[in-house]
Amino acid sequence: MNTWKNNVKEVKPYVPGEQPSAKNIIKLNTNENPYPPSDAVKEALKNMDFSMLRLYPKPGADELTEAIAEYNNVKPENVFVGVGSDDVLATAFLTFFNSDKPVLFPDITYSFYPVWAKLYGIPFRTPEVTDDFRIRQSDYMTENGGIVIANPNAPTGISESVDFFEEIIKNNPGSVVIIDEAYVDFGAESVLPLVQKYDNLLVVQTFSKSRSMAGIRIGYAIGQKGLIDCMMAVRNSINSYTMNYPSIVLGTAAIKDRKYFEETRNRIIETREKTAERLTRMGFTVLPSKTNFLFVTNRLVDAKHIFTSLREMNIFVRYFDMPKIDNYLRITIGTDKQMQKLIEALEFIVNDAAEI
Ligand code: PMP
Repeated sequence: MNTWKNNVKEVKPYVPGEQPSAKNIIKLNTNENPYPPSDAVKEALKNMDFSMLRLYPKPGADELTEAIAEYNNVKPENVFVGVGSDDVLATAFLTFFNSDKPVLFPDITYSFYPVWAKLYGIPFRTPEVTDDFRIRQSDYMTENGGIVIANPNAPTGISESVDFFEEIIKNNPGSVVIIDEAYVDFGAESVLPLVQKYDNLLVVQTFSKSRSMAGIRIGYAIGQKGLIDCMMAVRNSINSYTMNYPSIVLGTAAIKDRKYFEETRNRIIETREKTAERLTRMGFTVLPSKTNFLFVTNRLVDAKHIFTSLREMNIFVRYFDMPKIDNYLRITIGTDKQMQKLIEALEFIVNDAAEI
């Protein structure tokens, strides 16, 4: 039959965590920061020039790009800003992954990677992580059309060293290697210092986690000018004005407040360590995390059962019904008070299940 439906691009979209509208819930399912953005952001919002909304924003989001460059000790020409790191990663896939050889990323990782690969028709291969969810360096030393690795990895929280990644970057001069550092601020080592040494390295970071700005949608990539120019050309072939005026103003204020950033990320790291210890004492296996979440499993009680029981108690965590990880829960680190409530709920669920 002649119908427009014959010409639709078939896609299986990424499914983000739920955003329930109820107020009295404890929301630990999408790795948001439990603390508000810096007061400097509130001030900037109050002082924002309303009349500027009349104009198109600067296509290069200049003020924000410069502030990100300054923070990271690079030049503005080394920075590409996008609407969350999802936008930056999607642009990078489209720009750099155009080979007939497969792009490589681990089988257990951010589940958006295969979605972009399929959307753009990029061949890909997913080397298996080890039984303890570690990435094998040797898997990335074979022919490929590009590499993307989240460090720390998601949803495991496990991170590797700069040396580990340098080997991969050095051994793949013919491919762009993207290191997705969405969670790096919570204790992992960034590969950013390698950018000046390797023209094939692209580092991606976000304001969504460590800067409490998931709602404003800012992410960025840092790389040598050659890479950034290519991404700009692709971006400017789709939409020149990705960054709106409020996000430029508020993002700039956020990245300039280093003190608040340090304080909140340290608080989250402390809460994470305390929570990990308590969960371990309760009989959970907790993977070593350098992120704002914990990936946990319980020997006695099924993860799906815990997930649904928590939900009934208005505590939302993330459960992935996927091979290898379907008996794990990903729990975002909230405030101490929220984690206390979570622990109490888990004690109840685990004891209740043990009695049956
Ligand atoms: N990378 C990883 C590994 C993530 O977990 C996320 C969050 N879903 C992102 C990138 C995208 O985050 P954002 O678009 O909010 O910057």
